[in-house]
Amino acid sequence: MKPLLGGCACREVRYECKEKPLVQFICHCRDCQHTSGGAFMAFVFVPRDRLTYLSGSLHHHDVRAESGRELRRQFCSACGSPISAFWPGAPMVELLTVASLDDQSIFTPTHELWMSRAEAWHPVHPDTVKLAEGPDEELVRGPVRTYFATRQA
Ligand SMILES: [Zn+2]
Ligand SMILES: [Zn+2]
Repeated sequence: MKPLLGGCACREVRYECKEKPLVQFICHCRDCQHTSGGAFMAFVFVPRDRLTYLSGSLHHHDVRAESGRELRRQFCSACGSPISAFWPGAPMVELLTVASLDDQSIFTPTHELWMSRAEAWHPVHPDTVKLAEGPDEELVRGPVRTYFATRQA
């Protein structure tokens, strides 16, 4: 496969991921609204050990997600663009913001999360499963576990 390439608005941060996304979500939680400055965030989950940051530097802040787990949100230290996030307690996968991808057309979300927090003024995707709150753990862990159990070295 072609690597996933992406980075920030000022182009100091660049990354490359040598795996296709495992999970693809849209999240309407308050924290994603704050972080994005918009109505929601769109993410693809990739295996962290196939993701390489090529340039630039990331700052981060840690938040207690509504799931109760700590999430580290990373952004470009120069321009502040949100780039990625991961759970320090479960660091096998990293979430890349779809906005940071060079080719956003690869994004095919399956679920929208935290519809209970969604802005009334923003339309939703026609083809996603809508969840009032966060996902069942298995919705994320299932595909991640399957990937790590079956992938080729
Ligand atoms: Zn930047
Ligand atoms: Zn969220």
